[in-house]
Parts: sequence; C-alpha cells; structure tokens
Amino acid sequence: SIIDLVADQAARRPDALALTARSADGAEQRLSYGELLARAQRLAAGLRHLGVTRGDHVGMMMNNEAGVEAAVTMLALHRLGAVVVPVNTRFAADEIVYVVNKARLGLLIAMRDFWPLLQSLEPRLAGVRHVITVGGDAASAPADWQRIFDEAPARHEPWPSVPPDAMSEILFTSGTTAHPKGAVMTHGRSVISAYGFAEAMSLAETDVFQSFFPFFTTASLHCLLLPAWWAGAQAVLDPALDVPAIIGRMERERTTKYIGAPAFYIFLLDHYDRSRHDLSTLTMFDYGGAAMPVEVIQRLAETFPHIELRQTYGMTESGPAGTVLKGEDGQAKLGSVGRPWPLTEVRVVDEAGAAVAAGTAGEIAIRSPSVMLEYYDEPVLTQKALQDGWLLTGDIGYLDAEGFLYHVDRKKDMIIRGGHNIGSLEVEEALFRHPAIQDAAVIAVPHPKLGEDIHAFVVPRPGRTVDAGALQAFCRDKLADYKIPRRITFTDALPRGPMGKVLKSDLRRLAAEQSHGSTTNE
Ligand code: ATP
Ligand code: MG
Repeated sequence: SIIDLVADQAARRPDALALTARSADGAEQRLSYGELLARAQRLAAGLRHLGVTRGDHVGMMMNNEAGVEAAVTMLALHRLGAVVVPVNTRFAADEIVYVVNKARLGLLIAMRDFWPLLQSLEPRLAGVRHVITVGGDAASAPADWQRIFDEAPARHEPWPSVPPDAMSEILFTSGTTAHPKGAVMTHGRSVISAYGFAEAMSLAETDVFQSFFPFFTTASLHCLLLPAWWAGAQAVLDPALDVPAIIGRMERERTTKYIGAPAFYIFLLDHYDRSRHDLSTLTMFDYGGAAMPVEVIQRLAETFPHIELRQTYGMTESGPAGTVLKGEDGQAKLGSVGRPWPLTEVRVVDEAGAAVAAGTAGEIAIRSPSVMLEYYDEPVLTQKALQDGWLLTGDIGYLDAEGFLYHVDRKKDMIIRGGHNIGSLEVEEALFRHPAIQDAAVIAVPHPKLGEDIHAFVVPRPGRTVDAGALQAFCRDKLADYKIPRRITFTDALPRGPMGKVLKSDLRRLAAEQSHGSTTNE
C-alpha cells in the first residue's frame, strides 16, 4: 500500500525529514517521517469515526497552499484504503461538476476558499454527502478538518489491510486536449511507479527533492511525493509557480534536485542572478510534462554548468512510467526524451499497431506495471488506449538506433498543411532560437485551400521588439518553406494550465476569433 512508503521510513528513520510544505495557516512546516505518519494516522482515525471506509471515493480539492494538510489527508485516506481522487483547484464550475459526478465522489475534502463555490454547486453535486473544509474560519465551516484531526479518537481498531490490487487513486489527466479522463491506479501500480521514478531521478536518502507541481496532479503525487518517500528523501512542495520564492526555498532547504515543467525553467532563466542567488546545493534539474525547447536546454546548460540536466517523459495514464534522458547523454542526444526507466518498455507503432523501424515516426506505446488499470467508467476510451497490454499514448515520436526516444508532437497538435505533416514543436523550436523571443506556441488553423495553416503565438522578451516579417525571415534557413508560420500573433503571455502547460485549445479559440485579423502575412 502507498502508506507503507511512509510507514517503512518512519520505522527506520523516524526523525528524518519527509516533507516541507505550506500549511493552511500560511506557515511553512517541516515534518519528519515519524510526524507525517503520526498525523496521517490521527486524521485516519478521525475520518474513520465519521464513517469513511475502504473503497470510498474521496475527492481532494486542495493545492500546495495547504500542502501539509493535503499530504496528511492523502496518506490518511490510504491508511483507510479509501480511493483518493484529486480535483484540480483551477477547474471552472462545470469541470468540477463533471469530475465529481464522474468519479462518484461521496465525500469532498476541500480548502476553505472553495466552500462558497461548492455550496453554489450543491444541486448539481447530488452524490456528495459531506464536505470537509481545510483552513479558514472553523466556526462557519460545515465540517472542519482541524476539528476532526484534534478530536480523533485515540484508541481504535487495527487498520484495514489494503492489497496491492486495491484501487488507490483516480487521477484525472491535465485536460490539455479535451475533457480530463480519470486514470485508475492501484496501490501496486502506484508503489511501482514511485520506485521507477525514484530510479529515474537517482534519489537517495540525502536528497532534498523540490517541485511546484500542484498537489492535484500525477506529477506532484507520483513524481515528487511518492518517489521521495520511496527513497527516504525530503520532499519540498512549492506553494505556487513563483520563481523568486522558489529560489529562496531552494536556498533555505538546501535543495539537491528540482523537478518542474519547461515553463518553470524559462521563467528561471529570466530571474536567476548569479550575484544574488546561491544554488550551489543543486545537483539536478529535471523537466517534463511538456516539450522542452532545445534552445532552453542549451541556455540552462550554460547558466548552470554544475547542475545535471535530465528530461523525463510520461503521462498520467502510464502512472507516469516513461523515459528519462540523463545528463551523460544530454549533449549527444539533444532533443531526445531518453530511454525507458526501470520496468518500462517503449515502442513506436503504426496505425495498425505494428512496431515500426528505428527512425520511423509513429505513435508512442508504453508497457509497464504502473500503467493505469483503465479510464474510470470509460470502457470505449479504455479499449482504444490499452491494447495487448500496451498503452497508446496519443503522442507521435520515433526511436533511434540506440533506443533513445524522440517526442515529435501530440497527435492532436500535428499540423497537416497542404498534405505535409508538420510538428508544431519543430516550428516552436525555430522560433525559440530568435534572441528577441521569450516564449512561443504554434497551432493549426483551418485554411480553405491547404486544409490547415500554421499560426504562431509569440511572446517577445521584455523591452525587445520584432515584427512578423523579420521572424519569418529568421525561420527561413531553419525550416522548410511550408513549415514557416504564415500567421503570427504577438502577445504578453501564453495561456497556461496549472502545470505550466500551454493550453493550445485556448489558442485555437483565440485564433478563430481573430481569423480576419491583421496579423496574417502571406
Ligand atoms: P489530456 O490528456 O487531458 O489532454 P495531458 O495529456 O496534458 O492532458 P498529462 O497526463 O498531464 O495530461 O500529460 C501527459 C502528456 O504531456 C504526454 O502525453 C505528452 O504529450 C506531454 N509530455 C510529457 N512529458 C513530455 C516531454 N518530456 N516532452 C514532450 N511532451 C511531454
Ligand atoms: Mg494526455
């Protein structure tokens, strides 16, 4: 069971640090393995007293602003064998209603800030019998987390035994491309994924492993917390994607490894000041969750020569088993997302599901014991995604002769312009190389003759200007003519989800709105 990750460390090294995080009262706390386990068991006793039992689906609408309570709650639910269902705290009302009903949640544990919203949604959340709120004013809360914790019975029956094949979590995907889908995990799958990712990060007891990844994402649960606890390391949760605060926390906690989405590193390069910041304890930066432009990798390597750069590729559905590119291969295999991490296999298949030769692009497929059991209550989607024990990822890529994987694009983001397949990421790579460009994203837009055309959204660096014509001229020796973006929109910032992923669906909407705009440059 997932709880054993913490219980085992608590038995061996009770005083070793397990977690640094913000608690709901705003203070930052450091908890040892012994304290973390004790708190989780205390809350578990309180929740059991309220009637929470094995197999209950419990929603957690919490983010890193209450990271301590979030971690304690998650572990308490695992102690009881309940199913943890993280709910994205940035969801709009309709998305909350969708996820809560889809996952059949009977109990919701939510940060106090969300109580008015949940109250207003009550008629649409018929299955939810109880809401427990965390933080804020206890008197006006329906059921208060702190009170349940404080008044938990001291004596209780033994904890239920939770076998490896029991459902542990329903993890909803980021919703980058469509409705989020609920990946069903079991305890065995999750523990194996913790091991795999700890190996991918070479985590040891001495590591201080930090991330801003929000608590409600697979990335936070399965890439930060569980691997750290597998290894007996200290996990550090940043309350938000706030780069100056993150740098301060790295200095204070003497962080050794950081894991973030590409957006974090783009912002970091902008803020980092060698004369003011001391990142000498850092030994590794890992990026994943979205494509990392090679240009940004190169700038990181120049700015932080003492820090090993790793890249990981994976997804909610795979638990997120996938690939890792380690520092030693970084320059020789620039642009690759690396090789499979332990117990994981990767292949590239054609439309018929047959493996293709090295160098040929196709859909990336993953096999691993941590791949999800199914999409919750989605038999048709499950059947499409899981075939003969392989997860079809929806990502396009190719393997080289040495088995390194290259991610080309999401299937849904590929552009088909006049019969040519164009990866949006390749065009973005070229734009990123322009010195005046800080950020870029490329999408397909409908075109009457060509089927689709390329539309680029670019963010110039502060104080720099560049026009569409100059940018197109710059791309000319880097891209074939048909890959050069004909439509370019300049903007201050790209729309991003909580992981820092660019929301291309929002850009498509924007492009449709301005399709008669003046930015076309044919
Ligand atoms: P949804 O499936 O709901 O549209 P999502 O795919 O963004 O959302 P996640 O499971 O969080 O949800 O993200 C996994 C996806 O992120 C992968 O399928 C891939 O497209 C992308 N990704 C992850 N790591 C990398 C990487 N290193 N390089 C490029 N893309 C990556
Ligand atoms: Mg996905």
